[in-house]
Amino acid sequence: MKKRVNLTFFKRSVGIPFTYRLAKDFNVAANIIRAQVDPNKVGKMVLELSGDIDQLDAAMDWLRSQDVLVSLHGQEIAIDEQRCVECGLCTGVCPTEALTLNPETFRLHFQRSRCVVCEQCITACPVAAISIDL
Ligand code: SF4
Ligand code: SF4
Repeated sequence: MKKRVNLTFFKRSVGIPFTYRLAKDFNVAANIIRAQVDPNKVGKMVLELSGDIDQLDAAMDWLRSQDVLVSLHGQEIAIDEQRCVECGLCTGVCPTEALTLNPETFRLHFQRSRCVVCEQCITACPVAAISIDL
């Protein structure tokens, strides 16, 4: 079967040959759909993984053990503007700066194209204004 996943990896994981290890250790083929590495910050990749379902799950567990954030592609973050109190806590945990506070208006700004659906903002929000939109 095939799964399309988003990977977010940090500076310490940049040197790991992910696609080679997935093929060699898990018999999972990884087709890179999109990749963006920002030196000294985070790298983002969209991969299409092909393999046996158990091996795909084991491969994703291994990626997570390497400090890689893995999420299924296709999920999106939804922000309930009625609930949001603009406290900015979510901006502090967002690894890609998809969430920022406008310095002039102090309103929360969400740049969807930067979001890698790592879900860290969901637990950071004190008023449960952020959810996964499946
Ligand atoms: S899920 Fe939240 S914390 Fe993660 S990248 Fe998207 S907006 Fe940022
Ligand atoms: S943590 Fe929640 S309430 Fe605070 S700015 Fe983010 S979405 Fe709004």
